[in-house]
Amino acid sequence: MTRLVLLGPPGAGKGTQAARIATEHGIPHISTGDIFRRNVAEQTDLGRRAQSFMKRGDLVPDEVVIDMVGDRLAQGDCAAGFLLDGFPRTVPQALALEDLLADAGTPLTVVLRFVVDDDEVIDRLFRRASIEGREDDTEDVIRQRLAEYHGKTEPLEFFYTERGLLRDVAAVGSVDEVTARALAVLREIPPQEPSSEVQP
Ligand code: ADP
Repeated sequence: MTRLVLLGPPGAGKGTQAARIATEHGIPHISTGDIFRRNVAEQTDLGRRAQSFMKRGDLVPDEVVIDMVGDRLAQGDCAAGFLLDGFPRTVPQALALEDLLADAGTPLTVVLRFVVDDDEVIDRLFRRASIEGREDDTEDVIRQRLAEYHGKTEPLEFFYTERGLLRDVAAVGSVDEVTARALAVLREIPPQEPSSEVQP
């Protein structure tokens, strides 16, 4: 049973690694960025609410994201575990997640932090911008996303260290190397079942 959060700055390669780790562990990959982009493309209410924040590189307001993730985690496929990519991104989001999972008796098993420095992520994001043409991959917006990361998301490293959940993965080298490192770290985490299922 893996209930996993990925942390790391934009450009750390979280999305790519998330997909691989989720497949390997047979759990759903929940990317809040992907959910938002899909909703923007379809111009749903949620998409329209998120769009202006995303365009500027700002975080979408906590209550919007928290409700969205709460709904997603309530779906049946998450009963066997899940991988969260891009959530939580603020301390209030992390507290909300903690409450939600505590109520269900299914706490997080581990938080993987992808470690890579700012110069490297800026290089990677510029390269990706020229390939994918994502609306939020322009220089000013990239800098704003990094500023949001350092200001609002980085405090989660302390939050999860305090809870004994944080493990580091060096996010440099080839994609395969990073995947291998992440999977190796996950193999060291003792399996954890929901408390209601623990036998005496
Ligand atoms: P990045 O490549 O910057 O890590 P993501 O694809 O994870 O980007 O997210 C894209 C955008 O979606 C963010 O810049 C933000 O506006 C919004 N977003 C995604 N997840 C969250 C979240 N947990 N809280 C607030 N905003 C979010």
